[in-house]
Amino acid sequence: MKNEKMLHKISQGMYVLSTQKAACFVDAVSQVGGGDHPLISVAVMKKNYTNEVMHNTTHFAISIFGKNNDGSIIQTFGFQSSRDVDKFKDVESIEINGVQIPADLVGYMYLEKIDTIENDTHTIFIGKVIEAEQFKEDEAMTYQYYQEHKEEVLKLKTESGKTAWVCQVCGYVYYGEELPDDYECPVCTVGKSYFVKQTK
Ligand code: FE
Repeated sequence: MKNEKMLHKISQGMYVLSTQKAACFVDAVSQVGGGDHPLISVAVMKKNYTNEVMHNTTHFAISIFGKNNDGSIIQTFGFQSSRDVDKFKDVESIEINGVQIPADLVGYMYLEKIDTIENDTHTIFIGKVIEAEQFKEDEAMTYQYYQEHKEEVLKLKTESGKTAWVCQVCGYVYYGEELPDDYECPVCTVGKSYFVKQTK
């Protein structure tokens, strides 16, 4: 791809996708239908455990991450797998028919899954909105805002005097003068081109 950064210009948000016993952070959410029960699509990486669980579920929820939400929520839901940890263990939540929904975000939509579309890397799940509720007044954070303010949002600190390579997707920090060409982020698995060098 010539310039992957152009993809950041597509307006996407920051959302927690949750279903029975799995949840993850997603950015590719779109409204794709109107009426009383609008349709919403959400794309989930195939290597993500939540993708597997979503195939075997009938309902799911999408919660909106706000500008004033704590960045630790991104770390809890985005940088670890529901296969290994219960992401809701220390998160205040409500539950609708077994689907846990974080109670500290801007609000949520609860959906019935009606279709799936597969591509090479992602599954696009389409749901019909059954209900939606707002928890607090806040502006939704866009993916672009997150990209531009990641250090602040995640409260990232790199050690001074060391050359650091910071993953632009998840914020993982690698220390070393050079990053190997075949390096993959141990947290989010993106390659070397997603790392930016920082010297302080
Ligand atoms: Fe990463």
